[in-house]
Amino acid sequence: MTIRNRIAFQFSLIVGGLLLAFSVLIYLTSAANRRGEFRNRLEQKARTTVRLLVEVQEVDRQLLRIIDRNTLNKLFYERVLVFDNGNRLLYASIDDDSIRVEPALLTRIRQEGVVRTTVAGREVVGFRYDERAAPVVAVASAYDVTGQRELADLRQTLLWSLLGGVALTIGLGVLFAGQSLRPISRLNQQISTINDRNLQQRLDEGRRRDEVDKLAINFNQVLERLQRAFEGQRQFVSHASHELRTPLAALKSEIQLGLRGSLSPEQHRQVLQTLLADTERLITLTNSLLFLARTLETAGRAGFKPVRLDDVCFLAQTELQMARPTYQIRISYEPLPQTDTETVVQGNEALLKQVVLNLLDNACKYAPDHTAYVCIAPGLRECRVAVSDYGIGIPPSQIANLFTPFFRANNVLGYEGVGIGLSICERIVELHQGRIEVSSELGRGSTFTLILPVSNAL
Ligand code: ADP
Repeated sequence: MTIRNRIAFQFSLIVGGLLLAFSVLIYLTSAANRRGEFRNRLEQKARTTVRLLVEVQEVDRQLLRIIDRNTLNKLFYERVLVFDNGNRLLYASIDDDSIRVEPALLTRIRQEGVVRTTVAGREVVGFRYDERAAPVVAVASAYDVTGQRELADLRQTLLWSLLGGVALTIGLGVLFAGQSLRPISRLNQQISTINDRNLQQRLDEGRRRDEVDKLAINFNQVLERLQRAFEGQRQFVSHASHELRTPLAALKSEIQLGLRGSLSPEQHRQVLQTLLADTERLITLTNSLLFLARTLETAGRAGFKPVRLDDVCFLAQTELQMARPTYQIRISYEPLPQTDTETVVQGNEALLKQVVLNLLDNACKYAPDHTAYVCIAPGLRECRVAVSDYGIGIPPSQIANLFTPFFRANNVLGYEGVGIGLSICERIVELHQGRIEVSSELGRGSTFTLILPVSNAL
């Protein structure tokens, strides 16, 4: 069922229910009023008859019958009966032997004084009259023909009004619901035309006021982010292919050079060494690309565990010094942790080690003394790991680009590297809800500070 039809249906259900409740109320109230009025009139008539019968000596039964026949409504089959204390009929406004009144009803009238009831569709009013020495009981009865007819008419009118009202509500409901949902349909149409090739397209944000406008604004923001991510990916792929093509082209020309028969064994050795260096560079590059593509996509926050950041630093120190024995890494605390939990963060140990390894490697690589100084600063809310060196530093205008994949500052010519390490670090740190801050002075050294929120869950 479409939302439009559902709204119309629910709306009609509510209005139909209300109309039905009102109709029933109106009908019941009218029926009760009519019955009450009719019984009052009947009682009045009967009281007049009894008074004339009992009080006025000059009026005998025959005369009273004549009066009654002229005043009681034949249409309604009105009749008045008067009984004495022994349930004997003293007076009947018509000559009809079939008239029966249940003795039980007479007894009830004597007990209660006045009884108003309905017997076989007839309205019956009975009362005790004991103003004279011998009390009598009068019973008046009649069919409320007009009342019943009017009630039937009212029933018909209410029924048709109810049906008409519900039909009208359904129609108007469908119309108005359709009108209110039209902006959403319009939005839907616009969205259906957006695909990966026209991500720059935006939805109409209307007057930026109602809910649908806000939906369009939010959707446009999502599109903006998607477009940026797509653009980033495209640039990344083009950078990556460029970076792969250059060493491959170098490899090709070196192989062509090696294939020339005129080279001496020494020249052949040199060609092979260059080939080896370029192949190693290619391996590093493809490994980094694979790492970026696979590890980060599969590493979700779900597998995070409490990790001690200082342990990660010591692991990275050992690993790096094994791989590069010339590198020096000095680790200190500032201040010393007071508790065990001050350096604990929620995270993936292997990924965090990759970050620290990369920062240490850069610090040692870009410093002539190949020494990195690590300062661990535990804290109550976040733990900081600052990796400093007295190396070549970074030109201030290029600091902002350091985390762009394949970016390398213009003072690192001659240093090995592919410019992808810091962008990997940034993604890992973002995954851990942390950040990396950089401060550097060209020619004097740099400090990269890894900042992660502390978890007290160890
Ligand atoms: P790579 O070191 O392989 O070039 P990275 O992504 O790790 O790639 O670093 C990107 C760039 O940031 C480096 O090329 C270099 O210009 C700069 N950089 C990073 N760390 C340092 C550092 N400690 N000292 C000077 N420059 C650095």
